[in-house]
Amino acid sequence: MHIIEIILEGFKSYPVRTSISNLDPQFNAITGLNGSGKSNIIDAICFVLGISSLSNVRVTSLQELIYKQGNAGVTKASVTLVFDNSNKRLSPPSLQGEDKVVISRAIYDNKSRYTLNGKVETADKIKQLFMQISLNVNNPHFLVMQGRIAQIVTMRSDAILSLIEEASGTSLYENRKLASLKL
Ligand code: ATP
Ligand code: MG
Repeated sequence: MHIIEIILEGFKSYPVRTSISNLDPQFNAITGLNGSGKSNIIDAICFVLGISSLSNVRVTSLQELIYKQGNAGVTKASVTLVFDNSNKRLSPPSLQGEDKVVISRAIYDNKSRYTLNGKVETADKIKQLFMQISLNVNNPHFLVMQGRIAQIVTMRSDAILSLIEEASGTSLYENRKLASLKL
């Protein structure tokens, strides 16, 4: 599965429906002036892929992800990722029959809602789907965000350990161990 189109509507600095299409399966670059909304596009992708911490998309509440300027009156935001799913070897078992997969995440009333191919889905179901294709946006390998390198070199050792645990996949077992100890 790879992204072929990103559609932003009311998300951060994109008040009206904006489509970024014809993405290359291997390599894409976003260019533009400072403050023109390049990182906001990356934030939008991370938002759909289920980033666990809002600070990683540079906000403190879902509401802040909605376009806000003067009295623009934008009250909801959505981001849609269109995936090419024609390579069945890399596609989740439940979606083998689909050549295209469309996943949207919308925000309204400070809540978020996912749809998969137009049908409302739980965040858990979407998370499982991405896990099935080993796409974990919360893995520190996944993205090196702006300012991240400087942050890592000044990190405390326990923070570096949890980074390594997330990257190697052992945090899953660590969380299960903690949950079982609580029983
Ligand atoms: P740089 O080259 O400096 O990294 P960039 O192209 O990555 O810049 P972004 O960080 O994507 O820029 O965009 C920053 C702009 O997005 C700022 O002008 C900010 O005001 C605007 N912005 C962020 N959130 C919102 C929002 N909710 N509503 C309107 N504008 C927003
Ligand atoms: Mg940027």
